[in-house]
Amino acid sequence: MDTQIIDAALLAGLPLPQPAEGSKEERGRICIIGGSREVPGAVLLAALGAMRAGAGKLQIATVESRAGALALAMPEALVISLPETKVGGLESGPVASTASRWASSNALLVGPGMVEEADGHEVLRCLLDSSCEAAIVVDAGALPRIMELGDSLRRRSGRVIITPHAGEMANLLGVDKEVVEHDPTSAALRLTKEFELVVIMKGSQTVITAPTGIWRYQGGGVGLATSGSGDVLAGIIAGLAARGAEPLIAAIWGVFLHGEAGSQLAKTVGPLGFLAREIPDLVPKLMIEPS
Ligand code: AMP
Ligand code: MG
Repeated sequence: MDTQIIDAALLAGLPLPQPAEGSKEERGRICIIGGSREVPGAVLLAALGAMRAGAGKLQIATVESRAGALALAMPEALVISLPETKVGGLESGPVASTASRWASSNALLVGPGMVEEADGHEVLRCLLDSSCEAAIVVDAGALPRIMELGDSLRRRSGRVIITPHAGEMANLLGVDKEVVEHDPTSAALRLTKEFELVVIMKGSQTVITAPTGIWRYQGGGVGLATSGSGDVLAGIIAGLAARGAEPLIAAIWGVFLHGEAGSQLAKTVGPLGFLAREIPDLVPKLMIEPS
């Protein structure tokens, strides 16, 4: 399969849905499910990414000990407060029992800030097996053990996007990180072929594999390797999907917008030292002027 380079010229042929009129409902609902006592802010970064990408309505489902603070930090959100495990992560049972609140979402993002010891895998299983038709973006703490969810993933062929970096991909495949770094495309393709996933293999170059092809983005710059950067990326992608972009289009645009925002921050702030929370502000303008 040929690899297509992600640049402004490619995006000109992949327009984002542009509702000229209409309510926030029509621009899509996103629900972000994640966070933990120790990492409460990752869902906030993702939420900023999603709203700057143009999603209409925002819900965040997170652990009860942090829900109040989060609601004040992100006043745009409806915050669903959920019971937490001993290690301060989400319990899967209550996520399932609140399905009526998130099931009408157009996009779900699961994993930011989730702790691995907690119930991330069961939370993801519950979303995949629900009747919710949303595109589902899976990142960070919801990634380990997705290999056990093969049938549930294949049932949603092409509508689940995973966003691992090399370390997370190595864990998924049970290989050394160096193996993934040496040939990230093969690693990503393996999961695309087996589970019909859109895979965003993050790194200094990011490769996207999908049942229909392979794409590569090679901009951004090293300043993007900073805490919370991946949470913002996952939020942007889920926000675009909530707006109605097909999952693959949301993935391609999301990687580009995140990378170009990083390039701009490298120029205005400096190549190192800009913050993940500064990335989302640049997204709205980049969406209308990608070059
Ligand atoms: P995460 O590790 O989950 O926080 O994600 C980091 C994000 O920064 C991903 O989107 C990577 O592709 C991006 N990134 C990391 N290092 C570089 C680099 N050297 N050049 C460009 N982008 C990078
Ligand atoms: Mg990450």
